Amino acid sequence: MSQIPVATLGVPRIGRRRELKFALEAYWAGRISQAELLSAAARLREEHWLIQKAMGVTVIPSNDFSLYDHVLDTAVMVGAIPQRYGWDGAAVSLDTYFSMARGSQGRPAGCCHAEGEGVPALEMTKWFDTNYHYLVPEFSPDQEFRLVSTKPLDEFNEAKALGIHTRPMLVGPVSFLKLGKRTDGGDPLALLPRLVPVYAELLRRLAEAGAAWVQIDEPCLVLDLSQDEKRAYAFAYEALAAAGGPKLMLATYFGALGDNLPAAAVLPVAGLHLDLVREPEQLEPALSLLPENCVVSLGVVDGRNVWRADLAALLDRLTPVIASRPGRVELAPSCSLLHVPFDLALETSLDPELKSWLAFAVQKVEELVALSHGLTSGREAVQSLIDAASRALASRASSPRVHDPLVEGRLAGVTPEMARRSVPFSERRACQRERLKLPLFPTTTIGSFPQTAEVRKARAAHLRGEMSYVDYDAFLKRETEKAIRFQEEIGLDVLVHGEFERNDMVQYFGEQLSGFAVTRQSWVQSYGSRCVRPPIIYGDVSRPRPMTVGWARFAQSLTDKPVKGMLTGPVTMLQWSFPRDDVPRETVCRQIALALRDEVADLEAAGIAVIQIDEPALREGLPLRQADRSAYLDWAVECFRLASSGVKPETQIHTHMCYGEFNDIIDAIASMDADVISIETSRSRMELLKAFRVFRYPNDIGPGVFDIHSPRVPPLDEMAALLRKAKDGLDRRQIWVNPDCGLKTRAWEEVRSSLANMVFAARKLREEV
Ligand code: GLN
Ligand code: ZN
Repeated sequence: MSQIPVATLGVPRIGRRRELKFALEAYWAGRISQAELLSAAARLREEHWLIQKAMGVTVIPSNDFSLYDHVLDTAVMVGAIPQRYGWDGAAVSLDTYFSMARGSQGRPAGCCHAEGEGVPALEMTKWFDTNYHYLVPEFSPDQEFRLVSTKPLDEFNEAKALGIHTRPMLVGPVSFLKLGKRTDGGDPLALLPRLVPVYAELLRRLAEAGAAWVQIDEPCLVLDLSQDEKRAYAFAYEALAAAGGPKLMLATYFGALGDNLPAAAVLPVAGLHLDLVREPEQLEPALSLLPENCVVSLGVVDGRNVWRADLAALLDRLTPVIASRPGRVELAPSCSLLHVPFDLALETSLDPELKSWLAFAVQKVEELVALSHGLTSGREAVQSLIDAASRALASRASSPRVHDPLVEGRLAGVTPEMARRSVPFSERRACQRERLKLPLFPTTTIGSFPQTAEVRKARAAHLRGEMSYVDYDAFLKRETEKAIRFQEEIGLDVLVHGEFERNDMVQYFGEQLSGFAVTRQSWVQSYGSRCVRPPIIYGDVSRPRPMTVGWARFAQSLTDKPVKGMLTGPVTMLQWSFPRDDVPRETVCRQIALALRDEVADLEAAGIAVIQIDEPALREGLPLRQADRSAYLDWAVECFRLASSGVKPETQIHTHMCYGEFNDIIDAIASMDADVISIETSRSRMELLKAFRVFRYPNDIGPGVFDIHSPRVPPLDEMAALLRKAKDGLDRRQIWVNPDCGLKTRAWEEVRSSLANMVFAARKLREEV
């Protein structure tokens, strides 16, 4: 039997050592030239192709690389470049590309806009249910498309010159349009007939260059689709088939095709990739519907998580599939490997046992290659690899680090009362007013104050062992005290300690909770040059000791004003980590909630009267399919309540969410029953509040009055006007005054002026009643 092909669908483009990040940032800072950036990018592509080839990958992708984002690349490729970027219709310059990605304010020489004028970037949003962000393509109603860049062709040729025959990867035309938006609010899919010819031309040119196959990603096929959308798929792929060109491997991922399967199975493509990790059950129905000669790409290794695969079980499962479709099966990860860290070998902070349970991108490729060998030449050929995987799995399944009977017992003992405050909000509000004695329109912030270079330097020095714990602690105390004095001076009503001790709102807790491991080198691209290191949740979660109480108590000891205790919520911690895959997500989330519940109790006992539990990721955890959403929201809300409901009525619970779109989840938000919720509303000019108004949201709300993403200091009158707009339709006693989000990325001078204006705006409103 000939070797079963192994595909990767895409590799982590940021590079083994985040080379792309450093090259981009050097270029943006003017330290390297465009030519240097481009050659760094070319070196990375070459390295990634060669690694894959050396490892035995037979279907090596090209065009999975991007300088910023592959959806942005697609927009540029087809000429979807909004007018504000001043594009002249010729080749798109790197500066235009990056101003679409990042806006052009503060761009160095070469930018056509006068200082300070600036052009906003395209909107950025999460890529399906991942923590990767893509740039949202923007179409005008009379949008024309044409092949403006030949990046896929260029990169195919680049690999060919290295002697590597690749399968170029494209974002499919239907998903591309569906992920974008039209400036007139119309249906972007109406533009499909104009877009398809551009794809057809590109495919023809790829075929001329010698491409045998193209991977065309249509992840929107796992979403709920209307009849019209299904028809759009038929239209697009019939047109592409008619145009001639390479064979198409239609890639779907992040879920099941479900009710779209019949429509997808009849598309005239030569191959279909299925995510068999998220939905193993879809293989058999797909096999029975797909035409005999269609190649099936089996996404059997988890591209979204870091756990080692069960090679023995996979071999059992795949053997009959291979036998039934000789020569028409490929092996692949469930989705592109973009979403996992590069190589486990780089990670030095994890102990060998935990490490033996993990597989990052490189290890996942090894798994796929081993499966291919085992299926082609018989198990014996890879017996030692199978055994090693089985041993690791057995050790993980029985490890006392994974299973903590105390945690499991406690979870089993959770009662509905534990997830309910002892009295309703109206009564709590009265007790809290009595205790806190806050003015109308109370002012506060979201938690973090500037993480200056000095703060980051001190942390790094402490981490390297160059600054003692005592000195580091003293430094953080001084910063905290400065923040408290600053807030008193400005006249804020509810203070925060400033979060100087936190490197990241999830990692900080991950470092302290049992069942979590944090990493040093395991970066995953979040957007552009920004990478995150999601903690790994490997076992039952518990809290060995208080995590934030010391800082809260210290900060409170400095002032008579209330200081908020600051926690990251259970859903956000789950969402921004790699969770275990041996129990349901909701179980992991409940365990985190119980650990936080203890923290909340300790904060209350330490005299902290206001506790904020941030849940900025609650919405992004929403399942992709409507039918799964209410079950998710039920447990997500329950977890928040479990964490927050153990306190007395006079303890005030806040929550915070940003980047919100609240209409479809407003009832879930209301049932979280936080005494106060702060949200990001300034950029929408309070539009997002509408959902709360319509719902008659009963508890208190702090609509953000200034954008923390911008260095701009908003004038007092602007914020006062926003507040007047906010109180319209809500009870003025419901309204808090705060920025959109934390201030960690801002400079102190901006923060000083913005917050001073904000406090004056609140005073002005008080005078107006
Ligand atoms: N408390 C956090 C901060 O102020 C909240 C950050 C967030 O919502 N992403 O930074
Ligand atoms: Zn926020």
